[in-house]
Amino acid sequence: MEFDLSKKYCYYFNEISKIPRGSRNEKAISDYVVLLAKKNGYAWKQDEVYNVIVEKPASAGYEHSEPVILQAHMDMVCEKNRDVEHDFEKDPLDLYVDEEGWLHARGTTLGADDGMGVAYMLAIMDDKDLKHPALQLVFTVMEEIGLYGAAALKKEDLHARRYINLDSGGENQTSVTSSGGARTEITRSLHFTGNRSNTYCLKVRGLQGGHSASCIRLERGNAILLAGRIAETLNCRFRDLRLADYNGGMKFNAIPRETDLVFASDADEKQLREETDRIAGQIKEELQYSDAGFRVKLESVETASKVLSAEDTAEILEFLFVLPNGLRHSSMAIENLTVASLNAGVVRIENDILYLDDLVRSALASHGDEVLHQLQLLCRRYGFGFRIIDRYYGWDYAKDSPLREILRDVLKEKGIEMKERSTHGGLECGIFKGLIPDLDIITYGPIEIGEHTPEEKLNLASFDRAYVNLLEVLKRCK
Ligand SMILES: [Zn+2]
Repeated sequence: MEFDLSKKYCYYFNEISKIPRGSRNEKAISDYVVLLAKKNGYAWKQDEVYNVIVEKPASAGYEHSEPVILQAHMDMVCEKNRDVEHDFEKDPLDLYVDEEGWLHARGTTLGADDGMGVAYMLAIMDDKDLKHPALQLVFTVMEEIGLYGAAALKKEDLHARRYINLDSGGENQTSVTSSGGARTEITRSLHFTGNRSNTYCLKVRGLQGGHSASCIRLERGNAILLAGRIAETLNCRFRDLRLADYNGGMKFNAIPRETDLVFASDADEKQLREETDRIAGQIKEELQYSDAGFRVKLESVETASKVLSAEDTAEILEFLFVLPNGLRHSSMAIENLTVASLNAGVVRIENDILYLDDLVRSALASHGDEVLHQLQLLCRRYGFGFRIIDRYYGWDYAKDSPLREILRDVLKEKGIEMKERSTHGGLECGIFKGLIPDLDIITYGPIEIGEHTPEEKLNLASFDRAYVNLLEVLKRCK
Protein backbone atom coordinates (compact mmCIF):
# COMPACT_ATOMS: atom_id res chain seq x y z
CA MET A 1 0.00 0.00 0.00
CA GLU A 2 1.38 3.37 -0.91
CA PHE A 3 0.63 6.79 0.50
CA ASP A 4 -1.46 8.00 -2.42
CA LEU A 5 -1.22 11.79 -2.53
CA SER A 6 -3.95 11.99 -5.16
CA LYS A 7 -6.38 11.37 -2.29
CA LYS A 8 -7.04 14.76 -0.76
CA TYR A 9 -6.78 13.64 2.88
CA CYS A 10 -3.43 11.97 2.15
CA TYR A 11 -2.25 15.07 0.32
CA TYR A 12 -3.16 17.27 3.29
CA PHE A 13 -1.69 14.86 5.82
CA ASN A 14 1.54 15.07 3.87
CA GLU A 15 1.37 18.87 3.66
CA ILE A 16 0.77 19.40 7.38
CA SER A 17 3.57 16.95 8.19
CA LYS A 18 5.92 19.57 6.73
CA ILE A 19 4.72 22.14 9.27
CA PRO A 20 6.19 21.83 12.78
CA ARG A 21 3.26 21.88 15.16
CA GLY A 22 4.14 20.93 18.71
CA SER A 23 1.80 22.31 21.35
CA ARG A 24 2.19 26.13 21.76
CA ASN A 25 3.81 26.27 18.32
CA GLU A 26 0.66 26.24 16.19
CA LYS A 27 0.78 29.64 14.48
CA ALA A 28 2.17 28.27 11.20
CA ILE A 29 -0.35 25.45 10.89
CA SER A 30 -3.14 27.77 11.99
CA ASP A 31 -2.16 30.25 9.27
CA TYR A 32 -2.06 27.41 6.76
CA VAL A 33 -5.67 26.50 7.61
CA VAL A 34 -6.71 30.16 7.27
CA LEU A 35 -4.99 30.38 3.89
CA LEU A 36 -6.96 27.41 2.64
CA ALA A 37 -10.22 28.88 3.94
CA LYS A 38 -9.46 32.10 2.10
CA LYS A 39 -8.59 30.25 -1.08
CA ASN A 40 -11.97 28.54 -0.96
CA GLY A 41 -13.77 31.76 -0.16
CA TYR A 42 -15.15 30.61 3.19
CA ALA A 43 -15.74 32.73 6.28
CA TRP A 44 -13.16 32.02 8.96
CA LYS A 45 -12.06 33.21 12.35
CA GLN A 46 -8.66 32.86 13.97
CA ASP A 47 -8.63 33.70 17.68
CA GLU A 48 -5.81 35.00 19.87
CA VAL A 49 -4.51 31.50 20.74
CA TYR A 50 -4.68 30.46 17.03
CA ASN A 51 -7.75 28.26 17.12
CA VAL A 52 -9.45 28.51 13.71
CA ILE A 53 -13.12 28.13 12.84
CA VAL A 54 -14.01 27.83 9.15
CA GLU A 55 -17.62 28.01 7.95
CA LYS A 56 -18.32 25.73 5.01
CA PRO A 57 -21.83 26.34 3.67
CA ALA A 58 -24.42 23.61 3.25
CA SER A 59 -24.47 21.77 -0.06
CA ALA A 60 -27.54 21.92 -2.30
CA GLY A 61 -30.54 20.27 -0.66
CA TYR A 62 -29.10 20.68 2.88
CA GLU A 63 -29.91 24.36 3.36
CA HIS A 64 -32.44 23.60 6.08
CA SER A 65 -30.51 20.87 7.87
CA GLU A 66 -29.03 21.49 11.31
CA PRO A 67 -25.35 22.42 11.02
CA VAL A 68 -22.57 20.11 12.22
CA ILE A 69 -19.28 20.88 13.92
CA LEU A 70 -16.24 18.88 12.83
CA GLN A 71 -13.30 19.27 15.13
CA ALA A 72 -9.65 18.20 15.42
CA HIS A 73 -6.64 19.56 17.27
CA MET A 74 -3.70 20.90 15.28
CA ASP A 75 -0.97 20.35 17.85
CA MET A 76 0.95 17.10 18.24
CA VAL A 77 3.12 15.46 20.86
CA CYS A 78 6.80 15.79 19.92
CA GLU A 79 8.68 12.64 20.91
CA LYS A 80 11.68 11.13 19.20
CA ASN A 81 14.08 8.29 19.64
CA ARG A 82 17.28 9.23 21.39
CA ASP A 83 19.48 8.51 18.37
CA VAL A 84 17.42 10.58 15.93
CA GLU A 85 18.38 14.09 14.87
CA HIS A 86 15.17 16.02 14.61
CA ASP A 87 14.30 19.61 15.44
CA PHE A 88 10.58 19.78 16.17
CA GLU A 89 10.73 23.57 15.77
CA LYS A 90 11.74 23.45 12.13
CA ASP A 91 12.17 20.00 10.58
CA PRO A 92 9.42 18.33 8.53
CA LEU A 93 8.39 14.83 9.58
CA ASP A 94 10.02 12.07 7.56
CA LEU A 95 7.06 9.92 6.49
CA TYR A 96 7.28 6.37 5.22
CA VAL A 97 4.95 3.41 4.70
CA ASP A 98 5.86 -0.02 6.06
CA GLU A 99 5.15 -3.35 4.38
CA GLU A 100 1.88 -3.83 6.22
CA GLY A 101 0.48 -0.54 5.01
CA TRP A 102 1.04 1.60 8.09
CA LEU A 103 2.25 5.18 7.82
CA HIS A 104 5.10 6.18 10.17
CA ALA A 105 7.45 9.08 10.74
CA ARG A 106 11.07 7.97 10.88
CA GLY A 107 12.24 8.11 14.52
CA THR A 108 9.56 10.52 15.71
CA THR A 109 5.90 10.74 16.58
CA LEU A 110 3.76 10.80 13.44
CA GLY A 111 1.26 13.35 14.65
CA ALA A 112 -1.63 11.26 13.32
CA ASP A 113 -2.96 12.30 16.72
CA ASP A 114 -4.52 14.46 15.54
CA GLY A 115 -3.20 15.13 12.03
CA MET A 116 -5.63 12.50 10.75
CA GLY A 117 -8.57 14.65 11.88
CA VAL A 118 -7.01 17.85 10.56
CA ALA A 119 -6.31 16.19 7.19
CA TYR A 120 -9.91 14.97 6.93
CA MET A 121 -11.23 18.45 7.66
CA LEU A 122 -8.93 20.10 5.13
CA ALA A 123 -9.96 17.53 2.51
CA ILE A 124 -13.62 18.23 3.26
CA MET A 125 -13.00 21.96 3.13
CA ASP A 126 -11.38 21.57 -0.26
CA ASP A 127 -14.07 19.41 -1.87
CA LYS A 128 -17.11 21.13 -3.35
CA ASP A 129 -18.75 17.86 -4.46
CA LEU A 130 -19.62 16.57 -1.00
CA LYS A 131 -23.11 16.38 0.47
CA HIS A 132 -23.55 17.78 3.96
CA PRO A 133 -25.26 20.44 6.06
CA ALA A 134 -23.48 23.68 6.92
CA LEU A 135 -20.20 22.76 8.61
CA GLN A 136 -18.24 24.51 11.27
CA LEU A 137 -14.71 23.21 10.95
CA VAL A 138 -13.06 23.84 14.31
CA PHE A 139 -9.28 23.48 14.48
CA THR A 140 -7.99 23.75 18.03
CA VAL A 141 -4.56 24.23 19.62
CA MET A 142 -2.81 22.99 22.79
CA GLU A 143 -4.95 19.89 23.24
CA GLU A 144 -2.06 17.72 24.29
CA ILE A 145 -0.99 19.93 27.17
CA GLY A 146 -4.37 20.37 28.81
CA LEU A 147 -7.15 21.08 26.26
CA TYR A 148 -6.29 24.78 26.49
CA GLY A 149 -7.28 25.67 22.93
CA ALA A 150 -10.78 24.24 23.28
CA ALA A 151 -11.07 25.96 26.66
CA ALA A 152 -10.49 29.31 24.91
CA LEU A 153 -13.37 28.83 22.44
CA LYS A 154 -16.34 31.16 22.78
CA LYS A 155 -19.88 29.95 22.96
CA GLU A 156 -21.08 32.65 20.56
CA ASP A 157 -18.79 31.38 17.81
CA LEU A 158 -20.40 27.93 17.81
CA HIS A 159 -23.86 27.58 16.32
CA ALA A 160 -24.34 23.85 15.81
CA ARG A 161 -25.96 21.25 18.03
CA ARG A 162 -24.28 18.30 16.39
CA TYR A 163 -20.59 17.66 16.79
CA ILE A 164 -18.13 15.12 15.44
CA ASN A 165 -14.79 15.01 17.19
CA LEU A 166 -12.05 13.54 14.99
CA ASP A 167 -9.48 12.84 17.69
CA SER A 168 -10.46 9.40 18.79
CA GLY A 169 -9.35 6.73 16.39
CA GLY A 170 -10.83 3.32 16.00
CA GLU A 171 -12.82 3.15 12.73
CA ASN A 172 -15.34 0.77 14.32
CA GLN A 173 -15.94 2.61 17.54
CA THR A 174 -17.03 5.87 19.05
CA SER A 175 -16.60 7.48 22.46
CA VAL A 176 -19.73 8.06 24.51
CA THR A 177 -18.51 9.91 27.59
CA SER A 178 -15.54 11.68 29.12
CA SER A 179 -14.84 13.35 32.42
CA GLY A 180 -14.16 16.95 33.26
CA GLY A 181 -11.33 17.99 35.51
CA ALA A 182 -10.58 20.62 38.12
CA ARG A 183 -7.03 21.19 39.28
CA THR A 184 -6.99 22.46 42.82
CA GLU A 185 -4.26 23.80 45.04
CA ILE A 186 -4.44 23.30 48.80
CA THR A 187 -1.96 25.37 50.84
CA ARG A 188 -0.97 26.10 54.39
CA SER A 189 1.48 28.67 55.74
CA LEU A 190 3.98 27.04 58.05
CA HIS A 191 5.77 28.41 61.08
CA PHE A 192 8.98 26.59 61.75
CA THR A 193 10.88 26.59 65.05
CA GLY A 194 14.27 25.22 66.07
CA ASN A 195 14.75 21.54 66.78
CA ARG A 196 17.13 19.24 68.67
CA SER A 197 15.11 16.04 68.71
CA ASN A 198 15.83 12.88 66.79
CA THR A 199 14.73 13.13 63.20
CA TYR A 200 13.31 10.39 60.99
CA CYS A 201 12.40 10.06 57.37
CA LEU A 202 9.39 7.89 56.69
CA LYS A 203 9.76 6.54 53.16
CA VAL A 204 6.89 5.00 51.25
CA ARG A 205 8.07 3.07 48.18
CA GLY A 206 7.20 0.34 45.71
CA LEU A 207 3.71 1.44 44.72
CA GLN A 208 2.43 1.04 41.17
CA GLY A 209 0.91 4.48 40.68
CA GLY A 210 -0.65 4.98 37.25
CA HIS A 211 -2.74 7.53 35.42
CA SER A 212 -5.33 9.07 37.67
CA ALA A 213 -8.08 8.66 35.04
CA SER A 214 -7.68 5.01 34.09
CA CYS A 215 -6.14 3.62 37.29
CA ILE A 216 -8.03 5.42 40.04
CA ARG A 217 -10.57 2.62 40.33
CA LEU A 218 -7.90 -0.05 40.86
CA GLU A 219 -7.45 0.69 44.60
CA ARG A 220 -3.77 1.45 44.17
CA GLY A 221 -2.11 3.02 47.16
CA ASN A 222 -1.49 6.77 47.20
CA ALA A 223 2.01 7.28 48.63
CA ILE A 224 1.27 10.78 49.94
CA LEU A 225 -1.78 9.69 51.88
CA LEU A 226 -0.25 6.42 53.08
CA ALA A 227 2.74 8.28 54.51
CA GLY A 228 0.29 10.69 56.12
CA ARG A 229 -1.76 7.84 57.55
CA ILE A 230 1.27 6.13 59.07
CA ALA A 231 2.45 9.41 60.60
CA GLU A 232 -1.04 10.14 61.91
CA THR A 233 -1.16 6.70 63.54
CA LEU A 234 2.26 7.23 65.10
CA ASN A 235 1.13 10.59 66.39
CA CYS A 236 -1.99 9.10 67.96
CA ARG A 237 0.28 7.05 70.16
CA PHE A 238 3.34 9.26 70.74
CA ARG A 239 1.71 12.70 70.42
CA ASP A 240 4.95 14.58 69.78
CA LEU A 241 5.62 14.35 66.05
CA ARG A 242 6.90 17.57 64.55
CA LEU A 243 6.89 17.76 60.77
CA ALA A 244 10.07 18.92 59.02
CA ASP A 245 9.39 18.01 55.40
CA TYR A 246 6.78 16.32 53.27
CA ASN A 247 7.53 15.51 49.69
CA GLY A 248 5.81 13.14 47.29
CA GLY A 249 4.31 12.64 43.85
CA MET A 250 5.20 14.16 40.49
CA LYS A 251 2.03 15.26 38.71
CA PHE A 252 -1.60 16.15 39.24
CA ASN A 253 -2.78 13.32 37.04
CA ALA A 254 -0.56 10.51 38.31
CA ILE A 255 -1.20 8.45 41.44
CA PRO A 256 1.87 9.20 43.59
CA ARG A 257 4.19 6.21 43.98
CA GLU A 258 6.75 7.56 46.46
CA THR A 259 6.77 9.95 49.40
CA ASP A 260 9.23 11.11 52.05
CA LEU A 261 7.82 12.47 55.27
CA VAL A 262 10.44 13.87 57.65
CA PHE A 263 9.59 14.44 61.30
CA ALA A 264 11.23 14.92 64.70
CA SER A 265 10.22 13.01 67.80
CA ASP A 266 11.51 12.25 71.29
CA ALA A 267 9.65 8.97 71.42
CA ASP A 268 11.60 5.80 72.08
CA GLU A 269 13.12 4.80 68.77
CA LYS A 270 12.42 1.10 69.22
CA GLN A 271 8.76 1.74 69.94
CA LEU A 272 8.52 4.11 66.98
CA ARG A 273 9.88 1.43 64.71
CA GLU A 274 7.61 -1.26 66.13
CA GLU A 275 4.55 0.91 65.66
CA THR A 276 5.63 1.82 62.10
CA ASP A 277 6.08 -1.85 61.25
CA ARG A 278 2.71 -2.73 62.74
CA ILE A 279 0.73 -0.22 60.67
CA ALA A 280 2.86 -0.88 57.56
CA GLY A 281 2.04 -4.59 57.94
CA GLN A 282 -1.66 -3.84 58.00
CA ILE A 283 -1.41 -1.66 54.89
CA LYS A 284 0.64 -4.32 53.14
CA GLU A 285 -2.18 -6.77 53.68
CA GLU A 286 -4.73 -4.26 52.37
CA LEU A 287 -2.63 -3.71 49.25
CA GLN A 288 -1.53 -7.29 48.63
CA TYR A 289 -3.47 -7.56 45.35
CA SER A 290 -3.19 -3.99 44.08
CA ASP A 291 0.33 -3.05 45.18
CA ALA A 292 2.33 -6.11 46.18
CA GLY A 293 5.55 -4.08 46.10
CA PHE A 294 4.50 -1.63 48.82
CA ARG A 295 7.14 -1.03 51.48
CA VAL A 296 7.90 1.45 54.23
CA LYS A 297 11.20 2.41 55.75
CA LEU A 298 11.80 4.55 58.81
CA GLU A 299 15.27 6.02 58.49
CA SER A 300 17.16 7.96 61.12
CA VAL A 301 18.41 11.10 59.42
CA GLU A 302 20.42 14.16 60.34
CA THR A 303 18.68 16.27 62.99
CA ALA A 304 16.36 18.70 61.21
CA SER A 305 17.26 22.29 62.09
CA LYS A 306 13.66 23.48 61.94
CA VAL A 307 10.31 21.79 62.45
CA LEU A 308 6.65 22.67 62.90
CA SER A 309 5.01 22.73 66.30
CA ALA A 310 3.36 19.53 67.53
CA GLU A 311 -0.05 21.26 67.27
CA ASP A 312 0.47 22.29 63.64
CA THR A 313 1.76 18.84 62.78
CA ALA A 314 -1.24 17.16 64.39
CA GLU A 315 -3.61 19.38 62.43
CA ILE A 316 -1.90 18.73 59.10
CA LEU A 317 -1.79 14.98 59.65
CA GLU A 318 -5.41 14.91 60.73
CA PHE A 319 -6.44 16.92 57.65
CA LEU A 320 -4.68 14.49 55.34
CA PHE A 321 -6.18 11.56 57.16
CA VAL A 322 -9.76 12.73 56.60
CA LEU A 323 -9.15 14.07 53.08
CA PRO A 324 -11.35 12.22 50.58
CA ASN A 325 -9.40 10.51 47.82
CA GLY A 326 -9.74 8.01 45.00
CA LEU A 327 -12.89 6.62 43.43
CA ARG A 328 -16.04 8.54 44.39
CA HIS A 329 -18.68 7.39 41.90
CA SER A 330 -18.98 4.58 39.37
CA SER A 331 -21.31 4.69 36.37
CA MET A 332 -24.51 2.72 36.69
CA ALA A 333 -24.97 2.90 32.89
CA ILE A 334 -21.55 1.64 31.80
CA GLU A 335 -19.65 -1.16 33.47
CA ASN A 336 -16.27 -0.44 35.06
CA LEU A 337 -16.43 3.26 34.37
CA THR A 338 -15.43 5.78 37.01
CA VAL A 339 -17.48 8.95 36.78
CA ALA A 340 -16.10 10.89 39.73
CA SER A 341 -12.76 10.71 41.52
CA LEU A 342 -10.03 12.76 43.05
CA ASN A 343 -6.29 12.31 43.24
CA ALA A 344 -3.91 13.93 45.70
CA GLY A 345 -1.04 14.04 43.23
CA VAL A 346 1.79 16.13 44.64
CA VAL A 347 2.81 17.36 48.11
CA ARG A 348 5.77 19.62 48.81
CA ILE A 349 7.01 22.29 51.18
CA GLU A 350 8.43 25.39 49.55
CA ASN A 351 9.22 28.76 51.12
CA ASP A 352 7.43 27.85 54.35
CA ILE A 353 4.25 26.86 52.54
CA LEU A 354 2.84 23.36 52.26
CA TYR A 355 1.32 22.67 48.84
CA LEU A 356 -0.97 19.81 47.95
CA ASP A 357 -2.10 19.44 44.32
CA ASP A 358 -5.38 17.60 43.95
CA LEU A 359 -7.18 16.77 40.70
CA VAL A 360 -10.92 16.26 40.78
CA ARG A 361 -12.50 14.47 37.79
CA SER A 362 -16.18 14.04 37.02
CA ALA A 363 -18.41 13.36 34.03
CA LEU A 364 -21.26 15.29 35.62
CA ALA A 365 -20.54 18.84 36.75
CA SER A 366 -22.60 18.32 39.90
CA HIS A 367 -20.35 15.48 41.07
CA GLY A 368 -17.38 17.77 40.59
CA ASP A 369 -19.14 20.52 42.50
CA GLU A 370 -19.88 18.08 45.31
CA VAL A 371 -16.26 17.03 45.75
CA LEU A 372 -14.91 20.55 45.33
CA HIS A 373 -17.27 21.81 48.00
CA GLN A 374 -16.16 19.05 50.37
CA LEU A 375 -12.53 20.01 49.84
CA GLN A 376 -13.33 23.65 50.36
CA LEU A 377 -15.16 23.01 53.67
CA LEU A 378 -12.47 20.71 54.93
CA CYS A 379 -9.76 23.24 54.10
CA ARG A 380 -11.64 25.97 55.90
CA ARG A 381 -12.15 23.77 58.97
CA TYR A 382 -8.45 22.86 59.19
CA GLY A 383 -6.97 26.24 58.30
CA PHE A 384 -5.82 25.45 54.76
CA GLY A 385 -6.12 27.68 51.72
CA PHE A 386 -8.06 26.30 48.77
CA ARG A 387 -8.01 27.41 45.15
CA ILE A 388 -9.38 25.98 41.90
CA ILE A 389 -6.60 26.58 39.36
CA ASP A 390 -8.64 25.66 36.30
CA ARG A 391 -11.63 23.59 35.41
CA TYR A 392 -13.21 22.05 32.31
CA TYR A 393 -16.45 20.15 32.13
CA GLY A 394 -17.17 16.56 31.27
CA TRP A 395 -19.41 14.81 28.81
CA ASP A 396 -21.85 12.62 30.65
CA TYR A 397 -23.22 9.56 28.83
CA ALA A 398 -26.35 10.40 26.83
CA LYS A 399 -28.84 7.59 26.46
CA ASP A 400 -30.15 9.01 23.20
CA SER A 401 -27.83 10.26 20.52
CA PRO A 402 -29.15 10.56 16.94
CA LEU A 403 -25.61 11.02 15.58
CA ARG A 404 -24.46 7.85 17.29
CA GLU A 405 -27.33 5.96 15.65
CA ILE A 406 -26.36 7.33 12.22
CA LEU A 407 -22.80 6.12 12.71
CA ARG A 408 -24.06 2.79 14.03
CA ASP A 409 -26.17 2.33 10.86
CA VAL A 410 -23.35 3.32 8.53
CA LEU A 411 -21.05 0.75 10.15
CA LYS A 412 -23.72 -1.91 10.38
CA GLU A 413 -24.32 -1.72 6.63
CA LYS A 414 -20.68 -2.76 6.28
CA GLY A 415 -21.21 -5.65 8.64
CA ILE A 416 -19.52 -3.93 11.59
CA GLU A 417 -20.96 -3.85 15.09
CA MET A 418 -20.07 -0.41 16.46
CA LYS A 419 -18.25 -0.42 19.81
CA GLU A 420 -18.83 2.24 22.43
CA ARG A 421 -15.85 3.54 24.30
CA SER A 422 -15.86 5.40 27.58
CA THR A 423 -13.14 7.16 29.50
CA HIS A 424 -12.71 8.84 32.86
CA GLY A 425 -10.08 11.00 31.19
CA GLY A 426 -10.63 14.39 29.61
CA LEU A 427 -11.59 14.98 25.98
CA GLU A 428 -12.23 18.22 24.12
CA CYS A 429 -15.78 16.86 23.73
CA GLY A 430 -16.44 17.76 27.37
CA ILE A 431 -15.51 21.38 26.78
CA PHE A 432 -17.86 21.59 23.78
CA LYS A 433 -20.59 19.99 25.88
CA GLY A 434 -19.96 22.61 28.55
CA LEU A 435 -20.43 25.37 25.95
CA ILE A 436 -23.48 23.80 24.28
CA PRO A 437 -25.37 21.69 26.84
CA ASP A 438 -27.73 20.03 24.33
CA LEU A 439 -24.92 19.07 21.96
CA ASP A 440 -25.15 15.65 20.30
CA ILE A 441 -21.62 14.20 20.16
CA ILE A 442 -19.73 11.39 18.47
CA THR A 443 -16.05 10.77 18.01
CA TYR A 444 -14.65 9.10 14.93
CA GLY A 445 -11.42 8.37 13.11
CA PRO A 446 -9.18 5.76 11.49
CA ILE A 447 -7.10 3.16 13.30
CA GLU A 448 -3.97 4.59 14.74
CA ILE A 449 -1.73 3.14 17.42
CA GLY A 450 1.25 4.10 19.56
CA GLU A 451 0.27 7.74 19.83
CA HIS A 452 2.60 10.00 21.84
CA THR A 453 5.56 7.72 21.04
CA PRO A 454 7.94 7.35 18.07
CA GLU A 455 6.12 4.06 17.44
CA GLU A 456 2.99 5.96 16.40
CA LYS A 457 1.50 4.65 13.14
CA LEU A 458 -1.61 5.15 11.05
CA ASN A 459 -3.29 2.37 9.15
CA LEU A 460 -3.69 3.62 5.59
CA ALA A 461 -6.47 1.22 4.58
CA SER A 462 -8.38 2.37 7.65
CA PHE A 463 -7.58 6.00 6.78
CA ASP A 464 -9.42 5.38 3.47
CA ARG A 465 -12.38 3.55 4.97
CA ALA A 466 -12.96 5.91 7.90
CA TYR A 467 -13.04 8.86 5.49
CA VAL A 468 -15.72 7.20 3.40
CA ASN A 469 -17.71 6.43 6.56
CA LEU A 470 -17.34 9.98 7.82
CA LEU A 471 -18.63 11.40 4.53
CA GLU A 472 -21.54 8.97 4.68
CA VAL A 473 -22.44 10.14 8.20
CA LEU A 474 -22.36 13.76 7.02
CA LYS A 475 -24.51 12.90 4.04
CA ARG A 476 -27.14 11.42 6.38
CA CYS A 477 -27.17 14.53 8.59
CA LYS A 478 -30.17 15.80 6.64
ZN1 LIG B 1 -5.31 13.84 20.29
